[in-house]
Amino acid sequence: MPRYDFRCRTCGDTFELSRPMAESSDPAACPAGHDDTVKLLSTVAVGGAAASSGPAPASGGGGGCCGGGCCG
Ligand SMILES: [Zn+2]
Repeated sequence: MPRYDFRCRTCGDTFELSRPMAESSDPAACPAGHDDTVKLLSTVAVGGAAASSGPAPASGGGGGCCGGGCCG
């Protein structure tokens, strides 16, 4: 399910929702309950589109913390 970024114009918070594409333009309330939100253009991966090649690093599975000695 794609994720969409929203910004609340009341408190200025940004938040992320996972919702079906069919509901992507539905209104969303911010975590604080405000209804005055706008949907941001986020990097939704549209399967197979060449435009998806971006600067996002491929984090290889394990998470960078373990192995550095910081997780005990
Ligand atoms: Zn808000």
